[in-house]
Amino acid sequence: MIVIGGGLAGLAAGAALAESGWRVRLFEQRPFLGGRATSYVLPDGEHVDNCQHVTLGCCTNLTDFYQRVGSADKIKFFDRLFFLDPQGRRGEMQAGILPAPFHMTGSFAKFAPLTLRDKLSIARAMLDILRAKGKPRDLDAPSGISMLEWLSRRGQTQGAIDRFWRAVLVSALDEELDRTDARFGVDVFWKAFLSNRAGYRMGVPAVPLANLYDGCKFEIEKRGGEVTLRAPVRGLKIENGEIAGVRFDDAKEETADAYIFAVPHTALAELLPESVKQSDPYLSNLDKINVSPITGVHLWFDRHVMKEPFVTLLDTTTQWIFNKSALYADSNAAGKTAAGEQYLQLVISASYDLLQKSRQEIIDLCLQEVRHALPAAREAQLLKATVIKEAAATFSPEPGVDRFRPKQESSVRKLFLAGDWTATGWPATMEGAVRSGYLAAEAVLRVHGTPKKFLQPDLAPDGFVAIWLGQRKDAVADR
Ligand SMILES: Cc1cc2nc3c(=O)[nH]c(=O)nc-3n(C[C@H](O)[C@H](O)[C@H](O)COP(=O)(O)OP(=O)(O)OC[C@H]3O[C@@H](n4cnc5c(N)ncnc54)[C@H](O)[C@@H]3O)c2cc1C
Repeated sequence: MIVIGGGLAGLAAGAALAESGWRVRLFEQRPFLGGRATSYVLPDGEHVDNCQHVTLGCCTNLTDFYQRVGSADKIKFFDRLFFLDPQGRRGEMQAGILPAPFHMTGSFAKFAPLTLRDKLSIARAMLDILRAKGKPRDLDAPSGISMLEWLSRRGQTQGAIDRFWRAVLVSALDEELDRTDARFGVDVFWKAFLSNRAGYRMGVPAVPLANLYDGCKFEIEKRGGEVTLRAPVRGLKIENGEIAGVRFDDAKEETADAYIFAVPHTALAELLPESVKQSDPYLSNLDKINVSPITGVHLWFDRHVMKEPFVTLLDTTTQWIFNKSALYADSNAAGKTAAGEQYLQLVISASYDLLQKSRQEIIDLCLQEVRHALPAAREAQLLKATVIKEAAATFSPEPGVDRFRPKQESSVRKLFLAGDWTATGWPATMEGAVRSGYLAAEAVLRVHGTPKKFLQPDLAPDGFVAIWLGQRKDAVADR
C-alpha cells in the first residue's frame, strides 16, 4: 500500500491500514509531517504553527485519531469561549446547567455585545435549525443557497449577522457568509452548539502542531511500513486503465496493490494524466473547487499583555487572539519565548483583503487592534513579529461545492483519494481530513474483501434533543 501525502488525511489512512496489518509506505514531499496542520522552527529557534489550529468536541474522528497515535493528552479542552468588541463589551459562551439544546441559554442571555433584538432573531433561527434537523428524511438544510441568504430569509438583524453568525462561521468555515453553502453553516450550529452539550468545547494543542504526529510514524513503522520525507511524487504510471506505479525524482518508481493520493486537489490535478482526468467526471472537475485564504500573525511582546487563553474579537480584521505562551506553558518544546515575555498568535480567516497588503501593513493593522483590545499591550514593546499568509488554506465551502467532491474510491482501479476536499460531508477541517483518510482506508479494505469500519459516529444528541428526535422517529414509524 502506498500513501502519498503526510497531512492528516494521509496519516489517518496510513495509521488505520497499518493497524489492519497492511505494510504502508507513506511518501511526503516536505521534510515534516502534518501538511497544512503543522509547525516549523524559525531560524531563531522559535516554534510557530502554520497558523493556530483548533478542534471542537464534535470532531469525533480527529479525537479518535489523536487517541490512536497517542497525542490525545497534548490537546487542552476549554469550556469557556471569550468575545470582546471594540467598545470593550465582553461576552462568554459556556454550557450552564440546562440540558441540550438550552445549555448555552444562560451565557447567551448575558452576552453583552448583542442587543435583545439580535438575540431574539438568533433564537428564532436556532429553532429553525432544530426543526430542520428533526426531519427524519431531510437532515440537511437545502444545499445550494448561501448562508447569508438563509439568514436574511429568517430576518436576522445586522448585529446578529456581524457579531454572531459571521464571528462563528467565518472562522469555522474560512469563507464569507455570502460564499458559504447554508448546509455547512447550519451543520456547524447543529453539531457544535445544539445537539450535544459537549459539541462546542474547544480543543487547542498544547504543543507545536508537528509534535502531534510522531506516534503516527511510529504506528506505521512498527508494523513494517515506512514514512519517507522529502519524497515528492512526480507522476503516475497508468497501464490498462489502472495505476501501475508512481514516479519519483531520478526516474525512481514504486509499485503497490493500492495507492491513496492524500494530496490537495490542486496538487492531484497537476499529477493526473489528462486521459485519467477525462475518464472520471470528478477528476476532470477538480479545478471547479475554489480555495480561500487564512492569515496568521505572530507577535512577541516584552511582557504579559493577556490573561485569557484565547479571545474572539468582534468588528475587527483580527478575528482570534491565542495566548500561545499560556497554551504552551506545560510544553518543553515551546520555543524560545523568555519567562516574562508573551507570544500571541492572531488568526484572520477568509483574509482576501490582506492578500495584497505587505507584511508590515498587516502587522501595523493587527498591532493597532490588539493594543485597542488589550490595554496592557499599549505600553508593551513588540519584540518581533511574523506573518504567514496561506492563499489556498482550505477549499471554499461555496454553495453547491459538494457536487464536485469525489468519493474516496475512484473509478480508476487501485486509485483511492483522501483529503479534506473529498466527499466527507464536512468542510475543510482537520476532522474532515481524518474522516477522508478513514473512508479511504475503509474503501481499500472493502475492495480487497476484508471490510472494516474506522469512521466514528457523530456525538449522539443528548438532553431534550435526544428525547425530541426519538419522539419524531416514533411518530414517523407509527404512520
Ligand atoms: C492557516 C490554516 C489554518 C487552519 N485552521 C484550522 C483549524 O483551526 N481547525 C481545523 O480543523 N482546520 C484548520 N485548517 C484546515 C486544516 O489544516 C486542513 O483541513 C487539513 O490539515 C487538511 O489535511 P489534508 O491531509 O487533507 O491536506 P494537507 O494537510 O494539505 O496534506 C497534503 C500533504 O500532501 C503533500 N503533498 C502534496 N503533493 C505531494 C506530492 N506530489 N508528493 C508527496 N507529497 C505531496 C503536502 O506536502 C501535504 O503534506 C486550517 C488550515 C490552514 C492552512
